[in-house]
Amino acid sequence: MFDLHQRLEARRAAGLQRFRRQVEGPAGPLQRIDGREILSFCSNDYLGLAGHPAIAEALRRGSLAYGTGSGSAHLINGHSRAHHALEEALAEFVGRPRALLFSTGYMANLGTVAALVGRGDSVVEDRLNHASLIDAGTLSGAKRLRYAHADVDSARRQLSRAEGDTLLLTDGVFSMDGDVAPLPALVEAARECGAWLMVDDAHGIGVHGSGGRGTLARYGLGQQDAPVLMGTLGKALGTAGAFVAGDEDLIEYLIGAARTYLFTTAMPAALAEATLQALTLAREEEWRRERLSELIVRLRGGAAALGLTLMPSDTPIQPILIGDSAQALAVADALWAQGILVPAIRPPTVAEGQARLRITLSAAHEPEQVDRLLETLAAVLASPVGSVAADAT
Ligand code: PMP
Repeated sequence: MFDLHQRLEARRAAGLQRFRRQVEGPAGPLQRIDGREILSFCSNDYLGLAGHPAIAEALRRGSLAYGTGSGSAHLINGHSRAHHALEEALAEFVGRPRALLFSTGYMANLGTVAALVGRGDSVVEDRLNHASLIDAGTLSGAKRLRYAHADVDSARRQLSRAEGDTLLLTDGVFSMDGDVAPLPALVEAARECGAWLMVDDAHGIGVHGSGGRGTLARYGLGQQDAPVLMGTLGKALGTAGAFVAGDEDLIEYLIGAARTYLFTTAMPAALAEATLQALTLAREEEWRRERLSELIVRLRGGAAALGLTLMPSDTPIQPILIGDSAQALAVADALWAQGILVPAIRPPTVAEGQARLRITLSAAHEPEQVDRLLETLAAVLASPVGSVAADAT
């Protein structure tokens, strides 16, 4: 009966038990973490907006106008003018007729997928999709078919085995590898099989495409190509929450059928005010995306010169493959000892033998901070800890 102590011991013995660090101060490359000044390369604040004073001011204004809590679900009386204005702005931003706000990206995926498909239907998923899309497929009760990562032939084979209404589900940018989904080919495959493509662009909104309109926009794809688009607000936009965008019927249907929309308190209206401000900055301040691109090139060039194994990514997610879990952890610990936070990502989050350092960049990083990361990595790799790690790649 519920021997949690024993379960925890087993998790600890397997090195799977997680712990949390305590952060002080606004999000940004330099933060006080567990009482120390740390240079961090692990946030999803890609545009450097999470600590922006204009957004904090909009949050303050919003909370004075609307209070701190929305008080109820959207369908009771939690849906404010600010929420509505944000939905309209997001729809316009991604070039679709309508958008619907959810309190988190996880909830947006669960609610949307489970509303669209059920028993007798199918979901076809990339094996490396985010946990929330995988869980959404399971929760829906639809037949679940997974395809090899970014492999469109494999996706086609699984689509041919699908039954009923079928959703082809993919991340736009894969969160642990940083690569971009082969969207044009997936659009074709879905179209040929009469499936709907749904893209989770949590890591692409604000980062890719003109004005940061997302990964579909990067390929010139839109509503006709992928009828369901999910984006999050807690990454490049620097606030919290998520949205689903699509046509009129999709959004009206989700309002009544997505249980994670119906049965939860609306996000605070102040957060919607803050996100409206964030959206304006994200679309207008092109220099943030340009700076991010420069930092990505700088990091990749430096890492390649050190002989590190990079992954094929041109996004702010830049993993360095180490291979062995214990070695990845040892390198991350050595960086931490030098005041740099880069998480080691290990199985079961990634496949066995694929442990990595997951570096994420932000427009708020200085080029010199990237250089410091590279210099410190070089020193760690030259040390006994690191040379074993390098051998393991
Ligand atoms: N999808 C992807 C690809 C993600 O990386 C995340 C967050 N890590 C989510 C969905 C969930 O979004 P949220 O954090 O808003 O719940």
